[in-house]
Amino acid sequence: MGAEKIIVVGGGPAGMMAAIRAASLGQDVTLIEKNHFLGKKLLLSGKGRCNLTNLSDPESFLKRFSKSGQFLRDAFKKFFNQDLINFFKNRGLELKVERQLRVFPATARANSVLEVLKKELFKNKVKIIYKTQLRDIFIQDNKVKKLLLSDGLILATNKIILATGGISFGFTGSTGEGLAIAKRLGHTITTLRPGLVPLETKQKYPKILEGLTLKNICLKFFDGQRQILSDIGELLFTSFGISGPLVLSLSGQIVDWLNEGKYVYVEIDLKPALSVEQLNARLTREFKLNSKKTLKNVLKNLLPKRLVGIFVEIADIKPTRKVNQINREERKKLISLLKGLHLDILQARPIKEAMITRGGVSLKNINPRTMESRIIKGLYFAGEMIDVDADTGGFNFQAAFSTGYLAGESAALSSYQLKAEG
Ligand SMILES: Cc1cc2nc3c(=O)[nH]c(=O)nc-3n(C[C@H](O)[C@H](O)[C@H](O)COP(=O)(O)OP(=O)(O)OC[C@H]3O[C@@H](n4cnc5c(N)ncnc54)[C@H](O)[C@@H]3O)c2cc1C
Repeated sequence: MGAEKIIVVGGGPAGMMAAIRAASLGQDVTLIEKNHFLGKKLLLSGKGRCNLTNLSDPESFLKRFSKSGQFLRDAFKKFFNQDLINFFKNRGLELKVERQLRVFPATARANSVLEVLKKELFKNKVKIIYKTQLRDIFIQDNKVKKLLLSDGLILATNKIILATGGISFGFTGSTGEGLAIAKRLGHTITTLRPGLVPLETKQKYPKILEGLTLKNICLKFFDGQRQILSDIGELLFTSFGISGPLVLSLSGQIVDWLNEGKYVYVEIDLKPALSVEQLNARLTREFKLNSKKTLKNVLKNLLPKRLVGIFVEIADIKPTRKVNQINREERKKLISLLKGLHLDILQARPIKEAMITRGGVSLKNINPRTMESRIIKGLYFAGEMIDVDADTGGFNFQAAFSTGYLAGESAALSSYQLKAEG
């Protein structure tokens, strides 16, 4: 049949799925990966367990993306969470659904996901070139013609799928060369910034509390005018500030506020289930029951032990004071701190420490129905290098797999179309 050669660059989830789909449609596919193995970031994902997708319904799913979610409608129509689940199940991988509808391999090992993808690449006869980087793409009449690799090899092709990822966790291979090439070819790259990233605080007490996780708390971030309220969940203190699921989820918005030059602070509601009045009643009761005990000891009934010392210091009350000596004003202060422990946000951690890169190839430059560039014919994009990003929970992988699938299919079908026309 003399199939067209399709070259996929980047052996992450997006590139692997693109190569598998194009090859399953009978195309001659070559996958180029600069590492000596595939899926380096995938192996780190979900703390080594790989949260590969989420079972939310389509509308709730799209809401977990920043503004750009609508762009993915066509990709999700083509290949969504249940399709991905079936893809793995049909190839023998058991999956399990955990809290918040997160889907993991039942083995709890990311490597099981990678093994299925590798087997499928092999089965579909995808050629893989390792330890080789894409250096450049050559264009003629706005169409892909050939590409240059780091070993000096030039490959002729009129279909390239770029899936080189973002620029976070660069040691895994995603260092942005694909984005630079796309830019040189005339695409707009929207500002690259960290997403799902820990935050640094002005106050130093998080360092003293490093490693402590506060459960069932709620965060309120402020920028002077606007505020965002988190769900109820966990906060982790780190050596430089705060992290944990609630912080990571809201960090994209906070980074945008900081980039606007806003003064941003957060208030930690340590007792979100209780109103101020209920908390007042609770404290009054505790103080009555334990009237001869010290404040420090009584607060241990309300707060994690490690937090108590710092909390009392911030309240500026002597920890050894007996609770029957705490006056009304001091009790009010304690309540206000329990409902809003304050931290000033200085900045986000650097992008290399972010779980994802926000920004990338502008959505205006990509046809959402095919993933083909609107500028260069025969050039397709997939995965994190596109300007889409989502919350934690398996949404980013699904976007990578779905855009990869669609790009692979579009490149393959357009090859047949070209041949029919020729
Ligand atoms: C610690 C961590 C945990 C995560 N956990 C989850 C999770 O559980 N669930 C989830 O949904 N998301 C998770 N993510 C996000 C997810 O890993 C990414 O969104 C996803 O890997 C993006 O896939 P991709 O294929 O677009 O890019 P990548 O996975 O980054 O793959 C890009 C590939 O391209 C290669 N490459 C780059 N440039 C070149 C070049 N010039 N030539 C040849 N090859 C090149 C790279 O070596 C790399 O292998 C996590 C991210 C991190 C950092």
